[in-house]
Order: sequence, then structure tokens, then C-alpha cells
Amino acid sequence: MDLNQFITIVPDWPKPGISFKDISSLMENGEAYRYATDQIVEYAKDKQIDIVVGPEARGFIIGCPVAYSLGVGFAPVRKEGKLPRETIKVEYGLEYGKDVLTMHKDVIKPGQRVLITDDLLATGGTIEATIKLVEELGGVVAGIAFLIDLTYLEGRSKLEGYDVLTLMSY
Ligand code: IMP
Repeated sequence: MDLNQFITIVPDWPKPGISFKDISSLMENGEAYRYATDQIVEYAKDKQIDIVVGPEARGFIIGCPVAYSLGVGFAPVRKEGKLPRETIKVEYGLEYGKDVLTMHKDVIKPGQRVLITDDLLATGGTIEATIKLVEELGGVVAGIAFLIDLTYLEGRSKLEGYDVLTLMSY
């Protein structure tokens, strides 16, 4: 199946000059959503994954059906102040300023094998911060899966040495 046909490209959103890749039109199609999920499950199924981790909010949309299908749990990575139990946090740079991502401290046991999921790889800042959280808890990043890689932003350069799957690239 050619998944590209289900991505809507929205020019000048959320700001002028940005060409936004909207994955919600892919999710709205049951066959396409299942196909994309199955591709990631196929990639991950021999990696002895213990838990799937994804950053809010679209990382949940990709990661939860994959976790369900693999028969493992899912742990959310969220902005500061959203998770109720004890958390660890990491700061990461945005184009202007900084943001913080957090994760529950007790969610990964040292040595557990983790699949990280998100909808899209842009500069790689979000996923780099997610990797830091997982590794700080002693998790082993066994795979990272995205629907889309915006190759011109070169986020892949931040993921050298990691096993990465992307289903589409622009
Ligand atoms: P990065 O941290 O620069 O790699 O940005 C990736 C994050 O921004 C992901 O969590 C995406 O959900 C979001 N993002 C950036 N650009 C787009 C886009 O064109 N479509 C959907 N999400 C995007």
C-alpha cells in the first residue's frame, strides 16, 4: 500500500513557510492505519520489546496500537506537569527557547528493551530527548519507528547507531 496518498500536506501551517504533514487523514482510514501499524509491528516483532514509549501526542497514536499488537505495555512521554507519579525530566532545545519532557521514573526497569514511536522525525530534538529519558532509566533502545522522516531537516544524524524505521520520507 502506498501510504503517501493518505498524508495531507497543509501549506503555511501552523506558521507561514511550514509545510505541515498531517497524519490524521491516514488514521481516519482504517485500512491505512492498520497497514502502517502492521509495518511497525513487523519491524519490532523480533526485537524482544518489553515496552513501547512515545512522546505526546502523536507518538501515542502510533505507539499504542503497536504495543497492543505486540502484547506489551505503553508508556507516555509528556510535557512537564502532566504525569502524576514521580518523574524524571530532560530539557531540549527548540528553535526559540527550551522545552521539557518527562517520564514516570518507575516505568522502565534497567535492561528492558524499548521501542520508541512517533509520527514524524523533523530536527530529531523530540526523539533525542525521549532516548535520553529511556536511557537514564536504564532502558535499551532496541528500535525507533516513525511514519515520516523529513529528510531535509537531517534528524537522522542525531540517531546514528540506533536501529530506525521510517515508512515515508519527504
Ligand atoms: P523534531 O523534534 O524537530 O524532530 O519534531 C518532531 C515533532 O514535531 C514530532 O513529535 C511531530 O509530531 C512534530 N512535527 C513537526 N513537524 C510536523 C509535521 O509536519 N507534521 C506532524 N508533526 C510534526
